[in-house]
Amino acid sequence: MRPHICDFYPIPDLMKTKSLLCIQPHPDDMEIGAGATIANLTRKNIPVICLTVTDGSAGTYDPGINPNALCKIRRAETENSAAILGVNDLLWLDFADGGDLPYEQVRSEITRVIRQVKPGAVMVCDPWLPYEVHTDHIRTGMAAAEAAYLANMPNFCPADLQEGLKPHAVEMLAFYYTAYPNTFIDSDETWDLKLQAISCHKSQFPPEKMTQLKAFLETKAVDYSKQAGYSKTSPVEALKVLSPAHLHILEEAWRC
Ligand SMILES: [Zn+2]
Repeated sequence: MRPHICDFYPIPDLMKTKSLLCIQPHPDDMEIGAGATIANLTRKNIPVICLTVTDGSAGTYDPGINPNALCKIRRAETENSAAILGVNDLLWLDFADGGDLPYEQVRSEITRVIRQVKPGAVMVCDPWLPYEVHTDHIRTGMAAAEAAYLANMPNFCPADLQEGLKPHAVEMLAFYYTAYPNTFIDSDETWDLKLQAISCHKSQFPPEKMTQLKAFLETKAVDYSKQAGYSKTSPVEALKVLSPAHLHILEEAWRC
């Protein structure tokens, strides 16, 4: 049989990582995209650190809400949510929310965090999600993927090394909000934690919106369970997990 790309570059096992750096564009993305998986990891005593790229100040349709006040509310909501998921630490880059992220600066900042935290796995939203229009998501996903790919090269962001940091080799990337999942996480025991964590974001999900989101996520989770071929229909989260080697010049990577 003809060898497959995965014979040369195997798909890593996320649940065997030594630690996770989870990167989100806005407060609430990690919970919606991968909250149950994060809780699964922390229950296995695998350290999880979460990095939020923007300050969340644009997350409202109410012109009466002060952006600075909203940032504080969303930070507190994230702290409550992270405690439910067992996240070990929260880091913030505090770029302005709303689509104007300076790509190269974000990539450099994420590279520095990777070299400081030295994670086994980096998780982020999939920047190749078809029809995604939110620039914060596209730029955060791409900047994190590129940073994870380049963080092991000493001549990339060399100022980090002058500060005493060392290049770091990330073992794998896990993309949430993906259209091309290859990893299905049985979330039977952590699904309620995911929903509780999302519910902490009251500024984004008042009761009516939360009911709608919960129904949508539960429908998707059962679909993923069927897609994964599980005999039971417990909730499942779907991710695209790749090694850094998949992220350059491999046209088959999207199908892996
Ligand atoms: Zn977002």
